[in-house]
Amino acid sequence: MYDAIIIGTGPAGSTAARNVATAGLNTLIIEKDTLPRVKPCGGALSEHALSNLGIKLPNSLIERECFGARIRYGTCSLESEACERLSVMVSRDRLDHHLANCAVDAGAELIEGVRVRSTHTDEDCAVVETTEGAFRSKVVIGADGVNSVCAKNVRPPFTSQEICFALEAEIPASNEWIDEYILNKGEFHFGVVPKGYGWVFPKDGHFSVGIANRSQDFLRPMDAYLSFIKGLGFDHTNVKPRGHFLPIGGLDRKTYANRILLVGDAAGYVDAFLGEGMAYAIASGNMAAETAIDAWQNDDFSQGSLASYHKRCMDSFLPNLKYSSIFSKLFYRFPKISSKMLVNNEPMLNKYIYLATGKLGYLSFMKWIAPRLPYYLVKDVIGKRR
Ligand SMILES: Cc1cc2nc3c(=O)[nH]c(=O)nc-3n(C[C@H](O)[C@H](O)[C@H](O)COP(=O)(O)OP(=O)(O)OC[C@H]3O[C@@H](n4cnc5c(N)ncnc54)[C@H](O)[C@@H]3O)c2cc1C
Repeated sequence: MYDAIIIGTGPAGSTAARNVATAGLNTLIIEKDTLPRVKPCGGALSEHALSNLGIKLPNSLIERECFGARIRYGTCSLESEACERLSVMVSRDRLDHHLANCAVDAGAELIEGVRVRSTHTDEDCAVVETTEGAFRSKVVIGADGVNSVCAKNVRPPFTSQEICFALEAEIPASNEWIDEYILNKGEFHFGVVPKGYGWVFPKDGHFSVGIANRSQDFLRPMDAYLSFIKGLGFDHTNVKPRGHFLPIGGLDRKTYANRILLVGDAAGYVDAFLGEGMAYAIASGNMAAETAIDAWQNDDFSQGSLASYHKRCMDSFLPNLKYSSIFSKLFYRFPKISSKMLVNNEPMLNKYIYLATGKLGYLSFMKWIAPRLPYYLVKDVIGKRR
């Protein structure tokens, strides 16, 4: 019997596995794909995410460093640059493979190409049923993403209001073109989908181009994607975007049960406005590992013992995620007005980009906007009416 089984080698699973293995737990990671595997993602790893990682990322994984953002809405455009790095651009196949290797180096055993079918708990262990038979452990960390099998033992499925659908593709481009187009910024397009945005991120030899929108309002995602690409003037003839869901609500759902902890997307930990998930996947991977190590030391894997996981997340990042959800709802209640205000307001954008560092939270950002809102509405929205 293992001490811990981790399901999934995304950033949440590999971070949790590395930490529990380092603490001496006999650890198994089960991944349904063979690494390196493709994961649809913009690949923007924020400074906030990097600060949680606990290991230094090799330079060979960093394709670009980003210091700013360009916002576009209709024909308007606004750029802002920070005096510190905001994020690095990575490819998820290589990042996730590296993080999984770090967990293996720390002592975890990894089996690939094995799908978990279900999990359940017996009195003295958790049982993980897979395509290669059953595995047993004292605790299971469900890091198996938005469609988590493990979550079925913990909470009801996410509803369509609680998820977003995103489409992403890599558009080949020379590095000279990328330098000329955007160099070291992320580009965000509002108004291209009803409740979400489009992005163009600079990578090595390609752009990551995608759109994300609340799923219940996303009727024809492929049409919206192709029209976005055409609008950018990029070649759309051979583009094959990959789609994936993101959990952007359900933060009040349970994330632990007897012998089970959910992390990352499986727990619903994604910024509802930006769709940033890796920072919270890594942070929750850390918190779940701390909780599992405590439980292992006390030999108590009951729901009561694992409840400290929720408290850890609450003390660390959950309030910020809840405020991202409030901000997103306010923004998309009046999408035209909000987008117009953001694209015309340099101080607001200058402030907003610091959310990526983790030093500024959504609550501080909203507190900063609140007293200025009437003035900004008059100046940037009513004053710019044509
Ligand atoms: C199009 C798109 C763009 C995004 N862009 C960004 C971005 O730029 N920056 C950012 O921070 N976030 C971004 N996100 C969000 C981010 O990708 C996720 O939040 C993040 O990957 C969550 O990590 P995770 O480890 O929880 O899960 P995942 O990365 O989804 O990993 C889950 C792992 O579990 C495995 N698995 C699943 N089911 C099983 C099973 N039954 N048995 C065994 N293994 C299983 C999967 O193969 C996978 O390896 C984006 C999301 C999408 C969809």
